[in-house]
Amino acid sequence: MNYNQILKKGENFLKENNIKNSCLDVELILSKVVKIKREEILLNVNNKLKNSDIIKFENYLLRRIKKEPMAYILGYKYFWKYKFLTNKSVLIPRPDTELVIEEALQYLPNNKSKNILDIGTGTGCIIISLKKERPKCRATAIDISIKAINVAKTNAKIHQLENKINFINIDIDKYKSNNYDLIISNPPYISSVELSRLDDDIKFHEPKLALSGGFDGLRDLKKVIKKSKSLLKISGKLILEIGHKQKNQCLKLLNENKFFINRISKDLSGKDRCIISTKLQ
Ligand code: GLN
Repeated sequence: MNYNQILKKGENFLKENNIKNSCLDVELILSKVVKIKREEILLNVNNKLKNSDIIKFENYLLRRIKKEPMAYILGYKYFWKYKFLTNKSVLIPRPDTELVIEEALQYLPNNKSKNILDIGTGTGCIIISLKKERPKCRATAIDISIKAINVAKTNAKIHQLENKINFINIDIDKYKSNNYDLIISNPPYISSVELSRLDDDIKFHEPKLALSGGFDGLRDLKKVIKKSKSLLKISGKLILEIGHKQKNQCLKLLNENKFFINRISKDLSGKDRCIISTKLQ
C-alpha cells in the first residue's frame, strides 16, 4: 500500500466514525508513523509503506475513533511559538490561553528581572513561553500533579530551559513563597454541568484534575485569587484565565480581596477570557 492509498482508506474510516478533520488527522498520523514531515508526504504519495507501519497507522486510527485528541496521539501541541510535549496527564494547551501570554508580556519589560509564578502549570506552556520571551525573569511554576510537573520539566529541557525555571510539585494551599511581581494562572474552571456537556474528546480524555473547578467551576479560581493576595508584592499583577460566564463572580472575588481591575480581555471568539488585576494592599 502506498501513502495515497492509506490516506484515502484512513480518511474514509475516520469519516465513517464521525471524526471531523479526518483528512488532516490522517496526514498527521501518517507523518508520525513514517517520520516524515506532512508536506513531504504529500509530495511523495506513491511511496510504499512497510507492513509494520501499516499496523502502527491502524492502531493510531483506532485510538482516534475512540475520540482520543490528536495532541495525545501525536504527543505534542503547538502553543505560542513552540511545540509542547503533551500526554494524558496534562491539559492540552489551547489557543485562547495565548491571550494570557500577550497580556503578561505587557507587564514584563525586556530588561527587568521580574519575579513570576505560574499556578497550575500543566505542560508548562505559559511559563516556558514567557521565559523564552523574557529570559531575565525569575520563573517559578507549581502544579499539584507530579506527572504534570514532570511533563513541564521535560518541555523546559526541550526548549533549553533546564534548571532555568523552578518547577515545584505542591498544592497552592501549601505554597508559601512570596514577593511575586506577576502571577499567572489558567486554573481548572469548568463547572459540573458544563463538564458533562463537553465534547467526548475532552470529557473522556483530558485530566479531570485540570478541567474541573468543582460544582460552580469557581473552586480553584477562588483559591488562586485568595492566595495571590499573600504571594504578590503590593502593586503586583494577577493575570487569570476564566470561563466566559465567570466574569462577574471573579470580579466580585477580586474586589473582596482588594484587587484593582485593570482590564478584561476577550478570547478569539470574542468571549471574556482573561482578567488582569493589581494587588492594592
Ligand atoms: N497552564 C496550563 C495551560 O494553560 C494548564 C492549565 C490547567 O491544567 N488547568 O494549558
